[in-house]
Amino acid sequence: MLIGPGGVGKGTLAQRLVEKDDRLWLSRSWTTRPKRATEKGDEYVFVERATFESAIDDDRFLEWAEFQGNLYGTPLPTSPSEADVLLEIEVQGAEQVRRHNPDSVVFLILPPSMDQLEQRLRGRGDSPEHVAQRLSSTPHELARGHELADYVVVNDEVERAADEILSILEELRRHRRNPPEKD
Ligand code: 5GP
Repeated sequence: MLIGPGGVGKGTLAQRLVEKDDRLWLSRSWTTRPKRATEKGDEYVFVERATFESAIDDDRFLEWAEFQGNLYGTPLPTSPSEADVLLEIEVQGAEQVRRHNPDSVVFLILPPSMDQLEQRLRGRGDSPEHVAQRLSSTPHELARGHELADYVVVNDEVERAADEILSILEELRRHRRNPPEKD
Protein backbone atom coordinates (compact mmCIF):
# COMPACT_ATOMS: atom_id res chain seq x y z
CA MET A 1 0.00 0.00 0.00
CA LEU A 2 1.09 3.55 -0.71
CA ILE A 3 -0.24 6.07 1.77
CA GLY A 4 0.56 9.74 2.32
CA PRO A 5 -0.93 13.21 2.27
CA GLY A 6 -2.83 14.54 -0.74
CA GLY A 7 -0.54 16.12 -3.32
CA VAL A 8 2.47 13.99 -2.43
CA GLY A 9 2.43 12.25 -5.82
CA LYS A 10 1.22 8.76 -4.84
CA GLY A 11 -0.75 8.36 -8.08
CA THR A 12 2.21 9.13 -10.35
CA LEU A 13 4.44 6.92 -8.23
CA ALA A 14 1.95 4.03 -8.37
CA GLN A 15 1.78 4.32 -12.18
CA ARG A 16 5.57 4.29 -12.42
CA LEU A 17 5.81 1.25 -10.14
CA VAL A 18 3.49 -0.87 -12.28
CA GLU A 19 5.30 0.26 -15.44
CA LYS A 20 8.62 -0.83 -13.97
CA ASP A 21 7.52 -4.09 -12.32
CA ASP A 22 5.15 -6.41 -14.16
CA ARG A 23 4.52 -8.50 -11.03
CA LEU A 24 2.69 -5.53 -9.50
CA TRP A 25 -0.99 -5.00 -10.19
CA LEU A 26 -2.58 -1.63 -9.45
CA SER A 27 -6.14 -1.70 -8.17
CA ARG A 28 -8.52 0.89 -9.63
CA SER A 29 -10.58 2.41 -6.84
CA TRP A 30 -14.15 3.57 -6.85
CA THR A 31 -14.97 7.07 -5.68
CA THR A 32 -17.98 9.34 -5.32
CA ARG A 33 -15.88 12.48 -5.72
CA PRO A 34 -16.36 14.41 -8.96
CA LYS A 35 -13.65 14.11 -11.60
CA ARG A 36 -11.13 16.98 -11.51
CA ALA A 37 -10.68 19.11 -14.63
CA THR A 38 -7.06 17.86 -14.75
CA GLU A 39 -8.10 14.18 -14.75
CA LYS A 40 -8.60 12.03 -17.87
CA GLY A 41 -11.32 9.88 -16.34
CA ASP A 42 -9.56 6.53 -15.87
CA GLU A 43 -8.01 7.47 -12.50
CA TYR A 44 -11.03 6.03 -10.70
CA VAL A 45 -14.36 4.42 -11.39
CA PHE A 46 -16.43 7.57 -10.72
CA VAL A 47 -19.85 6.62 -9.34
CA GLU A 48 -22.88 8.16 -7.65
CA ARG A 49 -23.15 7.83 -3.88
CA ALA A 50 -26.17 5.51 -4.15
CA THR A 51 -24.22 3.13 -6.42
CA PHE A 52 -21.30 3.11 -3.98
CA GLU A 53 -23.58 2.51 -0.99
CA SER A 54 -25.32 -0.39 -2.66
CA ALA A 55 -21.91 -1.95 -3.44
CA ILE A 56 -21.04 -1.58 0.29
CA ASP A 57 -24.27 -3.40 1.17
CA ASP A 58 -23.31 -6.19 -1.24
CA ASP A 59 -19.82 -6.53 0.37
CA ARG A 60 -18.11 -5.63 -2.86
CA PHE A 61 -15.13 -3.80 -1.30
CA LEU A 62 -11.92 -5.05 0.27
CA GLU A 63 -11.96 -1.76 2.20
CA TRP A 64 -13.68 1.58 1.89
CA ALA A 65 -13.56 4.90 3.74
CA GLU A 66 -15.12 8.32 3.76
CA PHE A 67 -12.47 10.98 3.16
CA GLN A 68 -13.32 14.68 3.16
CA GLY A 69 -16.95 14.05 2.32
CA ASN A 70 -16.43 11.50 -0.46
CA LEU A 71 -16.38 7.71 -0.45
CA TYR A 72 -13.38 5.76 -1.74
CA GLY A 73 -13.03 1.99 -1.95
CA THR A 74 -11.05 -0.93 -3.33
CA PRO A 75 -13.36 -3.23 -5.30
CA LEU A 76 -13.17 -7.01 -4.99
CA PRO A 77 -11.68 -9.16 -6.40
CA THR A 78 -8.43 -7.28 -6.00
CA SER A 79 -6.25 -8.98 -8.55
CA PRO A 80 -5.91 -11.57 -11.25
CA SER A 81 -3.58 -14.52 -10.56
CA GLU A 82 -0.45 -14.30 -8.48
CA ALA A 83 0.27 -10.60 -8.79
CA ASP A 84 1.31 -8.46 -5.83
CA VAL A 85 -1.52 -5.98 -5.36
CA LEU A 86 -0.66 -2.30 -5.14
CA LEU A 87 -3.18 -0.03 -3.40
CA GLU A 88 -2.93 3.74 -3.34
CA ILE A 89 -5.23 4.65 -0.46
CA GLU A 90 -5.76 6.88 2.54
CA VAL A 91 -4.89 5.79 6.04
CA GLN A 92 -8.29 4.53 7.34
CA GLY A 93 -8.51 2.11 4.40
CA ALA A 94 -4.90 1.02 4.93
CA GLU A 95 -5.70 0.24 8.58
CA GLN A 96 -8.62 -2.00 7.47
CA VAL A 97 -6.43 -3.86 4.97
CA ARG A 98 -3.71 -4.31 7.59
CA ARG A 99 -6.25 -5.82 10.02
CA HIS A 100 -7.39 -8.39 7.44
CA ASN A 101 -3.93 -8.97 5.91
CA PRO A 102 -1.28 -8.62 8.61
CA ASP A 103 1.43 -9.40 6.00
CA SER A 104 0.57 -6.38 3.89
CA VAL A 105 3.29 -3.75 3.56
CA VAL A 106 2.71 -0.02 4.00
CA PHE A 107 4.87 2.68 2.43
CA LEU A 108 4.33 6.20 3.72
CA ILE A 109 5.20 8.66 0.95
CA LEU A 110 6.42 12.08 2.12
CA PRO A 111 6.93 15.31 0.20
CA PRO A 112 10.44 16.82 0.14
CA SER A 113 8.95 19.87 1.91
CA MET A 114 5.58 21.22 3.02
CA ASP A 115 5.95 24.11 0.52
CA GLN A 116 6.20 21.63 -2.33
CA LEU A 117 3.13 19.79 -1.10
CA GLU A 118 1.13 23.02 -1.12
CA GLN A 119 2.34 23.90 -4.62
CA ARG A 120 1.42 20.45 -5.94
CA LEU A 121 -2.06 20.62 -4.39
CA ARG A 122 -2.64 24.04 -5.97
CA GLY A 123 -1.43 22.75 -9.36
CA ARG A 124 -4.17 20.09 -9.48
CA GLY A 125 -6.85 22.66 -10.18
CA ASP A 126 -8.79 22.24 -6.91
CA SER A 127 -10.50 25.27 -5.38
CA PRO A 128 -8.51 27.30 -2.79
CA GLU A 129 -11.01 26.11 -0.12
CA HIS A 130 -10.37 22.49 -1.05
CA VAL A 131 -6.58 23.01 -1.00
CA ALA A 132 -6.86 24.61 2.46
CA GLN A 133 -9.02 21.70 3.67
CA ARG A 134 -6.50 19.14 2.39
CA LEU A 135 -3.60 20.99 3.99
CA SER A 136 -5.39 21.22 7.32
CA SER A 137 -5.76 17.42 7.47
CA THR A 138 -2.09 16.79 6.55
CA PRO A 139 -0.66 16.71 10.12
CA HIS A 140 -3.29 14.14 11.18
CA GLU A 141 -2.74 12.01 8.05
CA LEU A 142 1.01 12.10 8.66
CA ALA A 143 0.74 11.17 12.34
CA ARG A 144 -1.48 8.14 11.61
CA GLY A 145 0.64 7.29 8.58
CA HIS A 146 3.82 7.15 10.64
CA GLU A 147 2.16 4.79 13.13
CA LEU A 148 1.11 2.39 10.38
CA ALA A 149 4.04 2.59 7.97
CA ASP A 150 6.64 -0.13 7.55
CA TYR A 151 8.75 2.12 5.31
CA VAL A 152 8.95 5.87 4.77
CA VAL A 153 9.98 7.11 1.32
CA VAL A 154 10.52 10.75 0.32
CA ASN A 155 9.11 11.52 -3.13
CA ASP A 156 11.84 13.98 -4.09
CA GLU A 157 12.07 12.54 -7.60
CA VAL A 158 9.60 9.98 -8.88
CA GLU A 159 12.15 7.72 -10.58
CA ARG A 160 14.38 7.57 -7.51
CA ALA A 161 11.45 7.00 -5.13
CA ALA A 162 10.08 4.22 -7.39
CA ASP A 163 13.48 2.51 -7.46
CA GLU A 164 13.76 2.71 -3.67
CA ILE A 165 10.34 1.06 -3.26
CA LEU A 166 11.13 -1.62 -5.86
CA SER A 167 14.38 -2.56 -4.17
CA ILE A 168 12.54 -2.96 -0.84
CA LEU A 169 9.89 -5.11 -2.58
CA GLU A 170 12.61 -7.24 -4.13
CA GLU A 171 14.07 -7.89 -0.68
CA LEU A 172 10.63 -8.73 0.75
CA ARG A 173 9.97 -11.17 -2.10
CA ARG A 174 13.31 -12.87 -1.44
CA HIS A 175 12.24 -13.36 2.19
CA ARG A 176 8.86 -14.69 1.10
CA ARG A 177 10.56 -17.30 -1.14
CA ASN A 178 13.20 -18.18 1.50
CA PRO A 179 11.79 -17.40 4.92
CA PRO A 180 14.50 -17.29 7.60
CA GLU A 181 14.68 -20.58 9.53
CA LYS A 182 13.31 -20.55 13.07
CA ASP A 183 15.59 -21.82 15.89
P1 5GP B 1 -8.08 12.13 -4.20
O1 5GP B 1 -9.47 12.67 -4.05
O2 5GP B 1 -7.06 13.19 -3.94
O3 5GP B 1 -7.88 11.41 -5.51
O4 5GP B 1 -7.88 11.01 -3.08
C1 5GP B 1 -8.09 11.29 -1.75
C2 5GP B 1 -7.47 10.21 -0.89
O5 5GP B 1 -8.19 8.99 -1.08
C3 5GP B 1 -6.03 9.92 -1.26
O6 5GP B 1 -5.28 9.81 -0.05
C4 5GP B 1 -6.11 8.59 -1.97
O7 5GP B 1 -4.93 7.80 -1.80
C5 5GP B 1 -7.27 7.95 -1.24
N1 5GP B 1 -7.88 6.82 -1.96
C6 5GP B 1 -7.90 6.59 -3.30
N2 5GP B 1 -8.50 5.43 -3.56
C7 5GP B 1 -8.85 4.89 -2.36
C8 5GP B 1 -9.48 3.65 -1.96
O8 5GP B 1 -9.85 2.81 -2.76
N3 5GP B 1 -9.67 3.47 -0.63
C9 5GP B 1 -9.28 4.37 0.30
N4 5GP B 1 -9.49 4.06 1.57
N5 5GP B 1 -8.67 5.52 -0.04
C10 5GP B 1 -8.46 5.78 -1.34
